[in-house]
Amino acid sequence: MAWNIVIVGGGFAGANVARHLEKVLPRQSARLTLVNDVNFLLYTPLLPEAAAGTLEPRHVVTPLREILHRTNLRLGVVDDHDREAREVTLRSHMGQTEQIPYDHLVLAPGSISRFLPVPGLSEHAVGFKSLADAIFLRNHLIETLEMANATDDAELREELLTYVFVGGGYAGLEALAELQDFAADAMRDYPKARLHGMRWVLVEAADRVLPEIDQELADYAVDELRGRGIDIKMGTTLNEVTETTATISTGEVIPTRTVVWTAGVVPNPSLATFGVPLDERGRVKVDGSMAVEDNQGIWSLGDSAAVPNPKGGACPPTAQHAVRQAPVVAANIAAAIGLGEPKTFDYKGNASFVNLGRYKAVGKIGDRTFRGFKAWWMARSYHMSQIPGASRKARAVIDWTASLPFSRDISEVGSIGRPGVLSPDRYKHGGSHRPVEGDLPAAGRDRAGAEAEAEERPDPDFVD
Ligand SMILES: Cc1cc2nc3c(=O)[nH]c(=O)nc-3n(C[C@H](O)[C@H](O)[C@H](O)COP(=O)(O)OP(=O)(O)OC[C@H]3O[C@@H](n4cnc5c(N)ncnc54)[C@H](O)[C@@H]3O)c2cc1C
Repeated sequence: MAWNIVIVGGGFAGANVARHLEKVLPRQSARLTLVNDVNFLLYTPLLPEAAAGTLEPRHVVTPLREILHRTNLRLGVVDDHDREAREVTLRSHMGQTEQIPYDHLVLAPGSISRFLPVPGLSEHAVGFKSLADAIFLRNHLIETLEMANATDDAELREELLTYVFVGGGYAGLEALAELQDFAADAMRDYPKARLHGMRWVLVEAADRVLPEIDQELADYAVDELRGRGIDIKMGTTLNEVTETTATISTGEVIPTRTVVWTAGVVPNPSLATFGVPLDERGRVKVDGSMAVEDNQGIWSLGDSAAVPNPKGGACPPTAQHAVRQAPVVAANIAAAIGLGEPKTFDYKGNASFVNLGRYKAVGKIGDRTFRGFKAWWMARSYHMSQIPGASRKARAVIDWTASLPFSRDISEVGSIGRPGVLSPDRYKHGGSHRPVEGDLPAAGRDRAGAEAEAEERPDPDFVD
């Protein structure tokens, strides 16, 4: 008999469980199905570099079909679960539904950006979690430089050249560092904007940044960024956003047209539909083997599960943890069907790196800290070992190497994937490349449109 194993989510956690199951289970012993809403795995640690243009956006995603050889990839979402019948409901992008039976179910739908009811946030801020966010932010940044260079209005220039990031986790801090570094280099092509100067602000509610890593390394990163003139405000929250301002809890009203919301993540709300026990933060309750409490044959890992951390508490939501949890889950499923011994997650992790721009990073391995090019190069070597798929590794190396002798690419290609209406009217105000007015991702508008567009196009080639 062949066992049915269904995996929900094809991120670091789910895709790696499938890859390990392909290795540990004999070919005829199991039918593997992975359901994901897109056909690629987004390598998020390199998303800030895609936003800064050091890496081509397509090179930070790996097509799942390239790395999965005998797993049946199904595009869509799982939006229902019948525990008695042991089946889940797959809803395809075409709206069709199908019941998929399982003997073992792996829940790995990851996390989503945490949203707080800050006035003006959804209308005027952008997140940083998807490829669409990264592409939008890069184009928006270049557009602010273009507009600041063109205007003689000092107040408008101040708004355009001030960038506020909210949330000092990995996503926020690395995105800010990469984009500030990109903008500082790009400024040489914008003399009027350069004369005015830029302001970059990081607002963090807690009294430290980078809660995912060791305090010493986090302090190291803060020193580095403050040395670059970045204003890091800890113990501070965002109170309100408008099209032209960000008001923070100190009472300061910061004139800006760019607010990037990276205030952490919460487990994917779709977990509620599975009827499994969740902790107070909405994570699936699992033991050290990643078996879900009181639910035989159901497993959970990655950002969506509260996996006991061998260092105490629950594992932080990082890719590092998700990829190391995956082989343990695969081994435990194999053991449950009579192959091999069960395992317990015991990864303690003694190496961390934080990217701070082109050829800039800080890192720590054991007790040794590193900074500058050396840390950047060590982090690249680590990512090389982790990026799934040989062709993706090669493409990333080519991008890094090719960017060495050249200055930053400042082409603003906000029209990518946004074809204009096929009508001569769209050219009546001049130009030939731009979509019609109002269809461009400009400062403070149209962010939701860019995201919806990217989500509608699951093929990674949409950014080509
Ligand atoms: C900008 C950024 C930078 C980061 N940098 C680092 C870093 O440097 N180092 C590090 O260790 N971590 C980093 N992280 C964190 C890391 O990305 C996450 O911890 C990791 O992605 C978690 O993996 P996962 O598989 O649990 O979830 P995800 O990678 O989020 O994958 C979950 C997948 O499931 C899909 N899905 C959701 N619901 C359903 C459903 N109902 N049905 C089917 N599919 C579904 C989602 O669309 C997604 O494809 C970063 C995160 C961000 C956003």
